[in-house]
Amino acid sequence: MSSPRVLIAGNWKMNGRLSEATSLAQAVAKGAKTGGAELLICPPFPVLASVKGVLASAPVALGAQDCHAKVSGAHTGDVAAEMLRDVGCSYVIVGHSERRTDHEETDGDVRAKAEAALRAGLKPIVCVGETLAQRDAAQTLGVVADQIAHSIPETATAANVVVAYEPVWAIGTGRTPTVEQVAEVHAKIRADLEARFADGASFRILYGGSVKGSNAAELLAVANVDGALIGGASLKAEEFLAIAAAAPDRT
Ligand code: PEP
Repeated sequence: MSSPRVLIAGNWKMNGRLSEATSLAQAVAKGAKTGGAELLICPPFPVLASVKGVLASAPVALGAQDCHAKVSGAHTGDVAAEMLRDVGCSYVIVGHSERRTDHEETDGDVRAKAEAALRAGLKPIVCVGETLAQRDAAQTLGVVADQIAHSIPETATAANVVVAYEPVWAIGTGRTPTVEQVAEVHAKIRADLEARFADGASFRILYGGSVKGSNAAELLAVANVDGALIGGASLKAEEFLAIAAAAPDRT
């Protein structure tokens, strides 16, 4: 892989009016360092082009938070992966739990979106994770294995697909799993990727769910954690950059 192993990705969700988004992007671009973790920000659709302009040649990649599976057509309100590529995106998040819940996206939908991203030359970040009820019922490993099996395209490689483990109950709640729980799920995802893909050992597996500056070092040090997907804390440049600074130097 040509990019650094560790990826620190910010999911701004539905936050960032034009002026806020460009200021935040400016602050991230200003503090971003080359040679460390790869940095990525994923703002809402309407500000992508403006944020791209702000990032200019800064070492910060641009991503979107969703895409449609088709190239074009009668899909009111949707955005094709090719359109995202046109405005400078190189990544797109697919299957975030908020989309799986709010838009009833299935693993099949997520896989089709990931395939569309690959078709357009974007790297999909495929999100998986269990609900609290599933964890309490000791179903975590089975649920995540099922999502991995059915959401990741057959043509995935370590260079073109990123996986994000995001326990639903940890997203935006301030709660995080223990490092042992993170290690257990990431090891299972790694084993499943290795069983299915020749380069499964090299896929990047991000952890997401209430990552902040104060817990980043501990979470990013866990085996098979190759970066973080960050919601709330990515809306403050200094917090996002502090997480990036806590990332281990892994190749
Ligand atoms: C997310 O939405 O992907 C996420 C991890 O959110 P937060 O960091 O706010 O928990």
